Amino acid sequence: MAKEKKVEQITDMETDFAQWYTDICRKAELVEYASVKGFTILRPYGFAIWENMQQIMDGEFKKTGHVNVAMPVLIPESLLKKEGELVNGFAPEVAWVTMGGSEPLEERLAFRPTSETMFCDHWSRVLHSYRELPMLYNQWCSVIRWEKTTRPFLRSREFWWQEGHTIHETAEEAQAETEQQLNCYADFFENVLAIPVVRGRKTDKEKFAGAEATYTVECLMKDHKALQGATSHYFGDKFSRAYDVTFTGRDNKLQYPFQTSWGSTTRMIGAVIMAHGDNNGLVLPPKIAPIQVIVVPIAAHKPGVSEKAQELLDQIKALGIRAQADFSDNSMGWKCAQYEMKGVPVRLELGPRDIENNVCVAVRRDNGEKVQVSLEELEIAIPALLDAVQQGLYDAAKKNLEEHIYAAKSIEEAKQLQAEHGGFIKTMWCGDEACELKMKEEGGMSSRCIPFRQEQLSEVCACCGKPAKHMIYWGVAY
Ligand SMILES: [Zn+2]
Repeated sequence: MAKEKKVEQITDMETDFAQWYTDICRKAELVEYASVKGFTILRPYGFAIWENMQQIMDGEFKKTGHVNVAMPVLIPESLLKKEGELVNGFAPEVAWVTMGGSEPLEERLAFRPTSETMFCDHWSRVLHSYRELPMLYNQWCSVIRWEKTTRPFLRSREFWWQEGHTIHETAEEAQAETEQQLNCYADFFENVLAIPVVRGRKTDKEKFAGAEATYTVECLMKDHKALQGATSHYFGDKFSRAYDVTFTGRDNKLQYPFQTSWGSTTRMIGAVIMAHGDNNGLVLPPKIAPIQVIVVPIAAHKPGVSEKAQELLDQIKALGIRAQADFSDNSMGWKCAQYEMKGVPVRLELGPRDIENNVCVAVRRDNGEKVQVSLEELEIAIPALLDAVQQGLYDAAKKNLEEHIYAAKSIEEAKQLQAEHGGFIKTMWCGDEACELKMKEEGGMSSRCIPFRQEQLSEVCACCGKPAKHMIYWGVAY
C-alpha cells in the first residue's frame, strides 16, 4: 500500500499544553529524538529557523564590534576547577571524556557546559596591554549539560547557542557591555521574535554561578508560565584573578580586566512556539520564518494556472521574500493544513477565477483573515501583509503579558493568584534568600527577576513583613 503522508491532528492546547507543544515540535518537523538519550536532532525546518535567528543576531553583535571565534569543545578538569563557584554550579551537569582511543587519559576532559574558563585561559596567554582592550568575542556552538529530564528546545543535554565573552579595561565599560547586550536581546525578542519581555536583574540565588550580577529578559507563554529568554552576566575581575588574566595598564602596572558573558539558545524556538502557536500548529513571526509566503495554486491542472502561479512566485521572490509554491498533487485541504502546521505567515491562493480577475487571495496565519490582492499591487501588498502579521503577533503577545501581571501582598495571595490565572505575580521583597525559598516552598514559584522598572506596591516584604527593598516578579517557569 502506498504511504500517504497525512497532516496529523495535534492535541488542543487547552486540553494538554505540554502535549500540544511536543506535537508541534514533531509534526511541524522541527526536531526528532536521537538514539542517544536526552539529545535531539534539529531537522532542516527547525534548523532553518535557527539560522534566520543567528543571521539577524550575529549582524547585531557585529554592529557593536564583536567578532566570532571558535574554542575547543573539551576543557581539562584542572582548568575548569580554577574558579570554585563556576565549577560547583555546573558540576552535576558536566559530561566527561576519560578515554582517548583505547588509552585512559591522564586528566579527564569536560565537555564544555559553558566556556568562560576556556576564554580566560586563552586571554591569560594573549593579552598584554590596555591597548588590546576591549576584546569582544562571541562563539556559535553547542554545549552539553547532563540534564535529568529533557524537552525539545527547552531542556536537552546538548543545545545550540551563542556565548559572548568580553574583557574590558574598566568595571564601568564591562557593566555598560552587560547592559548593552541585555538590551540587544530585549530588542531581538520584541522586534524579531514578536515576544515582549520584562527586563531585570536575577536574585543572588538565581544568578549565574560565579557572576557578580546576572540580568535577564523574561517572557510569558500562552499557558501563562514564564520563560527566561536570554541572560547577560557581569563578572567583575573575579575570573581574571582566578585565571591570572592580566594586562599592563596606562599606569604601567599589571591589572586584571573586567569581564562579561551573555548567551541565548535554541530555547528561543521553544519560546516562539509557546508564545504564538495555536491549535492548528506553529505560528512564525515573518522575520524568522524559513518560508514567509507559500503560493498554493487551485485547480493547477487547468490551463494556465501552474504557469501563473510560477509567475506569482517569481515576482514575490524578486521582492526578497522567502517564498515557495506547492505544485504537488496533494489535496487543497492537505496543503492548507500542512502550511498552517508549519506556521507559514501568509498563504496565497490562486485559481482560474482569480486569474480572470487578476487577483490572488491572501490568508494570514496569525488570524485567518482572507483578503484579495491585485496582482498589480504585490510589491506593496505582500510586504505590508508580512509586517501586519509580525505586528499582530507582537500585539497579541503583549496583551497576554499585560493582562497576566498581578500584584500580591502575601504568599497566600500570590499562590492563589498563580493558581487562578498564572502569569507573573509581583510583590515587594526584603531581599532575603529565606523569603525567596519560602515563596518557592509555600507558593510554588521561583523569582523571575527584579524588574528595572520598579513600583512601590507597599512598604513591606510579602513573605516576612520586614521593610521591603525591591519589587520582584515571581512565576512558574519553564
Ligand atoms: Zn522578606
